Amino acid sequence: MSENKVDGERKPRDVLEHRAIENVIIVGGACAGYTAALYSSRANLEPLVIEGFQWGGQLQNTTDVENYPGFPDDGIMGPELMTKFREQAERFGTRFVTDNATRIELSDGGIQRVWVNDDEYRAKAVILAMGAEPKRLGVPGEVELGGRGVSTCGVCDGAFFKGQDVIVVGGGDSAMEESIFVAKFAEQLTIIHRRDEFRASKIMLERAREVENIDFKTPFVVEEFVAGDDGRIASVRLKNVETGATEEMDTGGAFVAIGHTPQSELVKGQVDTDENGYVLTQDGSTRTNLAGVFASGDLVDHIYRQAVTAAGTGSMSALDAEWYLRDTPPSPEAHWAGKAGVAQEGERDEAEKVQA
Ligand code: NAP
Repeated sequence: MSENKVDGERKPRDVLEHRAIENVIIVGGACAGYTAALYSSRANLEPLVIEGFQWGGQLQNTTDVENYPGFPDDGIMGPELMTKFREQAERFGTRFVTDNATRIELSDGGIQRVWVNDDEYRAKAVILAMGAEPKRLGVPGEVELGGRGVSTCGVCDGAFFKGQDVIVVGGGDSAMEESIFVAKFAEQLTIIHRRDEFRASKIMLERAREVENIDFKTPFVVEEFVAGDDGRIASVRLKNVETGATEEMDTGGAFVAIGHTPQSELVKGQVDTDENGYVLTQDGSTRTNLAGVFASGDLVDHIYRQAVTAAGTGSMSALDAEWYLRDTPPSPEAHWAGKAGVAQEGERDEAEKVQA
């Protein structure tokens, strides 16, 4: 398990062929962004990906990935998977800016603008794929033991903790869902929550309570994740928030499930989002409320959040953008009709024919 970044080929910005107006700019260099790049480069759209300085997203900090289809034997390491995604997009002509987007100015059907510091990039369409970050507790050992027993994804890592005693931190639906999943592998699972009341929905809380090897410890917070001699997590230091008393609890693994933050700061107030900042898309497509602006991956999805689902919606966003760009100049109607829109219209036509 490691947190090493895989060194990709980093192109200095001055060797990028600057174009007056790109077809499509993709903001985000991880599962959704690279898949959007693969599809749009194969459609000859020559996409430009602003991939971020630390490209690769959450998988850059993930070790073994066993649930990405296509790797039946030993799975694949997260950073290696991201490198493969990136190389495959590059093979078909994707260009990359290996730096962070610093400003985005979205337009409804006009030119989309993205800045990387003082460099401005313009495009007819933009795909937003900036992802989401798991929230952190911000306590000692949390980052240091990431990939060595401390995880933010039970669905990804639960199976590595067969027969062990583990903890899950949090009191929302994510914590309940992760606990129910991880408890299938763990010997004993303890949910640590800072209050006696739970934010989780009643049904999720009840489901967790019904699982035999799950118990609850409240009102406690984790003050530190402690490593053993082997460098992996060995215990957690807990504090009772009512009495202030601290205690140490042995554990073979810890899952921090206190929510996610979508990385939508740069487009806040410009495109429709929900109250938590997730970008809203329409009618089962990747279209936002702005013509020529598409969004995919964890920036949109607060439910499934898997590498494979992000890749799936990444491909959808490229297909939606390709559809939008089929006329010169692109017409806003193409955005609203979209691939999904046309399919639905087709279904409506068929239904009308049947009724007639
Ligand atoms: P959430 O509802 O915001 O819950 C976060 C939990 O983490 C809360 O219990 C919160 O405690 C705790 N927490 C936050 N910061 C903390 C800190 N620094 N230290 C200790 N505890 C901390 O997030 P979520 O569970 O990820 O859910 C997000 C949304 O997705 C919700 O709308 C949820 O219903 C939905 N969701 C649904 C499902 C499902 O239906 N299957 C599954 C997952 C998520 P406090 O309560 O004390 O603030």
